[in-house]
Amino acid sequence: MGETRHTKVLIIGSGPAGYTAAVYSARAMLSPILVQGLQPGGQLTITTEVENWPGDSHVQGPDLMVRMQEHATAMGAEIISDYITALDLSKRPFTTTADSGTTYIADAVILATGAQAKWLGLPSEEHFKGFGVSACATCDGFFYRGKEVVVVGGGNTAVEEALFLTNFASKVTLIHRRDFLRAEKIMQDRLFKNPKIEVVWNHEISEVVGAHEPRGVDGVKVRDVHSGAERVIPCAGFFVAIGHAPASELVKDQLPLHNGGYVVVEPGTTRTAIPGVFAAGDLTDHVYRQAVTSAGMGCMAALDAEKFLSGH
Ligand SMILES: Cc1cc2nc3c(=O)[nH]c(=O)nc-3n(C[C@H](O)[C@H](O)[C@H](O)COP(=O)(O)OP(=O)(O)OC[C@H]3O[C@@H](n4cnc5c(N)ncnc54)[C@H](O)[C@@H]3O)c2cc1C
Repeated sequence: MGETRHTKVLIIGSGPAGYTAAVYSARAMLSPILVQGLQPGGQLTITTEVENWPGDSHVQGPDLMVRMQEHATAMGAEIISDYITALDLSKRPFTTTADSGTTYIADAVILATGAQAKWLGLPSEEHFKGFGVSACATCDGFFYRGKEVVVVGGGNTAVEEALFLTNFASKVTLIHRRDFLRAEKIMQDRLFKNPKIEVVWNHEISEVVGAHEPRGVDGVKVRDVHSGAERVIPCAGFFVAIGHAPASELVKDQLPLHNGGYVVVEPGTTRTAIPGVFAAGDLTDHVYRQAVTSAGMGCMAALDAEKFLSGH
């Protein structure tokens, strides 16, 4: 039997949303506990360059997250390396169980468990992640000015990413394993009219190819789904745009979700359907999915939690 700890604010997740919520709630003298989860620092720890975090024209994702953790700790937040396995939101205070056996009893909970991009699952994709393989055109498109890139996917995300990348890339090739797209018609019209975009139908990715020293992508090997014939499409960047999975497992039967599992919050706030439970960052956001927007929502969640607690 592990120990039981009471906290005014429990923050679940250690990405930009969680750490920002920790900074704000610590400064509000709420002595928050933040549980980091299996990916301390969140998604930015799997990337290299970040060029759109205000105040840093150039920072490595993992370094930025270490700084955020240090900032939260310096303000008085308690950061715990553990993983929440169960969360009971049926009555307040809320009860959570962690992998270590510790039970946390919390007057307010800030959910900041983020999301994970879906990947193809190829070993070569893993090898080149952050070195030419990306799941975020908004984040990494800028690195491919004047270069050729490949996008894989057939839904709205893939079409949006392909169109966005035409702002930088000299050519964008969209690979899709079927002969039609799932994206909205209006998006498809824009895609087909764009002279920089070529669509390669009925093909799937079999390998990402590139150099190992220094690590970088040269192309993707694609396979015709009918004939099995393979060829390499040269590119400097490869964008996987087959969707995102919000980490809403803990609350999926307790809170309303939408758009494929994102936690619903009251517009303009981080309040969920349960008073005292707040959600911030990529867990609630299927549109922007950025570090700075997640941090902004983390701030909002701490302020919303503070207001809630002062009224109770
Ligand atoms: C490869 C890549 C590159 C990117 N580049 C940029 C960029 O350049 N600029 C930019 O603005 N954005 C970028 N992004 C997007 C950005 O990383 C996300 O928008 C941001 O990290 C979301 O922050 P978050 O706090 O909501 O959640 P996340 O960063 O997803 O963090 C979620 C946290 O929740 C924790 N967690 C999950 N489940 C549990 C649990 N049960 N118990 C405890 N903890 C749990 C995880 O361990 C993790 O710490 C990039 C994303 C990727 C994947």
